[in-house]
Amino acid sequence: MTELEKLQKENTNLKERLVIADDIERHKGLYITRKSDETKIKYCSRCWDTDHKLIQVDTNYSPGKFKCPNCKTTGVYDKELSRRNGEALFNTLVGKH
Ligand SMILES: [Zn+2]
Repeated sequence: MTELEKLQKENTNLKERLVIADDIERHKGLYITRKSDETKIKYCSRCWDTDHKLIQVDTNYSPGKFKCPNCKTTGVYDKELSRRNGEALFNTLVGKH
């Protein structure tokens, strides 16, 4: 790759990043979604902030919670769901039904 090609590639990457950055919605939990995405797939905010990579987080990890398969960041995307699951778990542990 020539120097010019390298610069052109870098420029394209930067432009893409700007387009995505403009499309990103931030949330209190450490995840992001894209405004243009109707299905609101959740991505890891840490991976985006550090590596500018959109890594889809795993939401099957635990009810209301997510985990990034890349950097292992965990967080809560649905407090209510997470709280209810915690309660259910607690009730199971103390033998209440
Ligand atoms: Zn991550």
